[in-house]
Amino acid sequence: MSEREHDIAVIGAGMVGAALALACAASGWRVVVIEPSAPEEPTPESDPDLRVSALSAGSEALLRQLGVWPAMEAMRMAPFGRLAVWEAPTGPLASVPGGRLVANQARTEFNAEALGRSHLGHIVENRVTRWALWQRMGDHDRITRLYPATLKTLEHTNDGVTLTLDTGNTVPVTLVVGADGANSATRRMAGIGTSRNQYRQQAMVINIRHAPPAETITWQMFTPQGPKAYLPLPEANGSGWGSLVWYDQPETLDELTAMDESQLLAAIRRNFPLTLPDPEAAPARGRFPIAREHAHQYARGRVVLVGDAAHTINPLAGQGVNLGFRDAAALARCLGTASSRNDPGDARILTAYETERRPHNRLMMDAMDLFYHLFSNANPPLHLARTLGLGLAGRIPFAHERVTRYAMGIDEHLPAPIESLIKRLA
Ligand SMILES: Cc1cc2nc3c(=O)[nH]c(=O)nc-3n(C[C@H](O)[C@H](O)[C@H](O)COP(=O)(O)OP(=O)(O)OC[C@H]3O[C@@H](n4cnc5c(N)ncnc54)[C@H](O)[C@@H]3O)c2cc1C
Repeated sequence: MSEREHDIAVIGAGMVGAALALACAASGWRVVVIEPSAPEEPTPESDPDLRVSALSAGSEALLRQLGVWPAMEAMRMAPFGRLAVWEAPTGPLASVPGGRLVANQARTEFNAEALGRSHLGHIVENRVTRWALWQRMGDHDRITRLYPATLKTLEHTNDGVTLTLDTGNTVPVTLVVGADGANSATRRMAGIGTSRNQYRQQAMVINIRHAPPAETITWQMFTPQGPKAYLPLPEANGSGWGSLVWYDQPETLDELTAMDESQLLAAIRRNFPLTLPDPEAAPARGRFPIAREHAHQYARGRVVLVGDAAHTINPLAGQGVNLGFRDAAALARCLGTASSRNDPGDARILTAYETERRPHNRLMMDAMDLFYHLFSNANPPLHLARTLGLGLAGRIPFAHERVTRYAMGIDEHLPAPIESLIKRLA
């Protein structure tokens, strides 16, 4: 095998690519990371980022192992100890005279205390996670960051791959990891196709400011038009903050986009339940198309995919990056240590990674689809099924605890009957 400066190239220093680069470097691999736009440093004075993620306990464990969690905590994050889901009330008693929704039917709550834990997860601004990972990579002597730089071409040679960047540099490596997100150029260049379904609903994310303190509960209310979610953010600039996710038809989101801030606040008050802390301002909003997309293969030749490059899912349960972190941990584990192997692009390693991850990612995609179709619907039998389902999920202690542990990323598996039900219904 020819002598090269780097063993592995990671294309994209998003949250997943950066985590993978650190995990591989910790095992002795020499890693080069290629990224067009380095993250900006978050400051305590800045308003919260519009892009936030609910990070599970499993993701926290990985980020602790990589040594980045303390830096993230030192910036800011919002732990949550409770998670509630319910269906929007209907009928004449659904709202108070001001138009705010009141009752919670079949509300199910998941509670950290019941599991003997201090929290279920954390809501973290993506830029906080990205910045902490980026800094850590900069400190590592087995990681080289090439930025700003974009992958332009990828060519397999006898025993490796040669990358060409827009900077004109060529980079020879043994394994290429595509961590360049949903529109992965690496995936395209490797000739890997995808199956894609664009959901009719889209998502608008709105950051609201409210009176302090920060909330410690995250919740989601289902309506036939789509869910309305609240994610607590940490206090910033003396205010409480929350991230709202409003799923709806594109036409409704067009209307919300065209509104000025006071109209948007009025629309939020009308459409979100009283549980929402009264919003004083809504300074940032953005729209995100949502699609389910799954790569036909996770590996081809010496190219392997992780994170959104391999799969995108409906974000309604906030699991996208948590799955990506699991991909990163699994691939690093399959690669083993640099001292025990000399070819990280060995097809057996990449097959072992795909065999481990594909069924888990597929199951989560199917579960999200099931939720999407079950709840985006005003059909009375489905309404009854939802009410019974949510009620039962909350009342069978065993199922309740196991589902919570799965959603928190503590357990890899759902109880077998639930897994097979999801597979059959999806
Ligand atoms: C509205 C919404 C809410 C969400 N909420 C949650 C949540 O609560 N919890 C959760 O787990 N997930 C959530 N997700 C999903 C989550 O945001 C994604 O799964 C996650 O960001 C994917 O990370 P990634 O690193 O794989 O890809 P990305 O974040 O897309 O990163 C890709 C990186 O590759 C770089 N890149 C792109 N092209 C090239 C190229 N040609 N060469 C080199 N580099 C390149 C980019 O600059 C970027 O840095 C949400 C998604 C949406 C839309």
